[in-house]
Amino acid sequence: MSGLSFNDVSKRFGTSTVVDRFTLDVAEGEFVALVGPSGCGKTTSLRILAGLEEASAGQLLVGARDVTELPARDRNLAMVFQSYALYPHMTAAQNIGFALSLQGLDKVTITDRVQRAADRLAIGHLLERRPKELSGGQRQRVAVARCIVREPAAFLFDEPLSNLDAKLRGTARVEIARLQKTLGITTLYVTHDQVEAMTMADRVVLMDAGRIRQIGTPMQLYHHPVDLFVATFLGSPAMNLLAGEVRHDRGEVRFSAPGLDLRLPETTHCAPGPVTLGLRPEALERMPTAPDRIALTGVVDHVEHLGAETLVQFAVQGSRDASMTARIPGGWPVRAGAPVTLSAAHVALHLFDATGSAVALHFAGSARASVGQRVPA
Ligand code: ATP
Repeated sequence: MSGLSFNDVSKRFGTSTVVDRFTLDVAEGEFVALVGPSGCGKTTSLRILAGLEEASAGQLLVGARDVTELPARDRNLAMVFQSYALYPHMTAAQNIGFALSLQGLDKVTITDRVQRAADRLAIGHLLERRPKELSGGQRQRVAVARCIVREPAAFLFDEPLSNLDAKLRGTARVEIARLQKTLGITTLYVTHDQVEAMTMADRVVLMDAGRIRQIGTPMQLYHHPVDLFVATFLGSPAMNLLAGEVRHDRGEVRFSAPGLDLRLPETTHCAPGPVTLGLRPEALERMPTAPDRIALTGVVDHVEHLGAETLVQFAVQGSRDASMTARIPGGWPVRAGAPVTLSAAHVALHLFDATGSAVALHFAGSARASVGQRVPA
């Protein structure tokens, strides 16, 4: 197992730069997910590391070894693609051992290494079966065994679950995350699915238009997004946003929007001017208002009862177009057309300046925006 590094890697196709000064260190045994909207450069970054695409600039390391100029086969990385691409006419054992037979290893060594890899993945009893006689999860394990048998420095996954239906994706997600931890294999995992990135990875790299926006643990990105892009990309339902203005009024910091005037924490470090206030749906609670909370009243538009929780969409009173979604515990009787008052703790507020950057809201000496790695533009 080895760590992986991208140092200032860029990729240009003609005149367009699709990966722009990408810098990332993946620690030995770490699981890092690359996530972002379609076309943001995730797959290209992975392919550059794998040696399937040439970098236009920058350096790539596998462990301490500079692999920038090496062909793909000499980088010792295992790439797991969308489809597991097992050979249908071969048994699981033949599929797993195929790369070793190409290397010209003797039969006894191959059988031994195949058996050891299969045992680690608990598929030792399935070695004589062909792919069509295996379940989806078992096929996935054969594909992983085929990679670990080569003893690679790291695993690179490119959207491995995107062909599966929603239910299978859920189980496969758990399976891959568990295998990765058991085997302790350094992993770089590309996905456009924020749930996969958040639930599987030790750290998440969120990309947009070829650039890294933020690197951090899933919770750092969720609770301390550095800008509006990160704040709205992660989370479902998405963070509620309210456009307005910050005013400094007789020693108080206030947020005003049409029909709304809210007191913000005194410690808000924000110059007067246009801002966006952000509130996660779960931050809106049925709690009485208090000096360290803001209250919002409105009229319920739509209710979705999901069992354990209920999603309530409401039109914020006084604000012409502002609609918010609250995620409240299930069982609360609420219906469309009814008035509603919800409040949110100051600590749950997010504030973004006119450029979309997070504004520090200081609480008990901690700076919200200081957590996670901000990537300079
Ligand atoms: P998706 O989630 O849709 O797979 P992605 O984030 O993985 O997207 P990439 O496949 O890395 O995105 O592509 C990044 C950009 O580079 C896209 O605009 C794509 O059209 C462009 N691109 C990729 N390969 C080539 C190529 N061989 N020639 C020209 N442009 C390319």
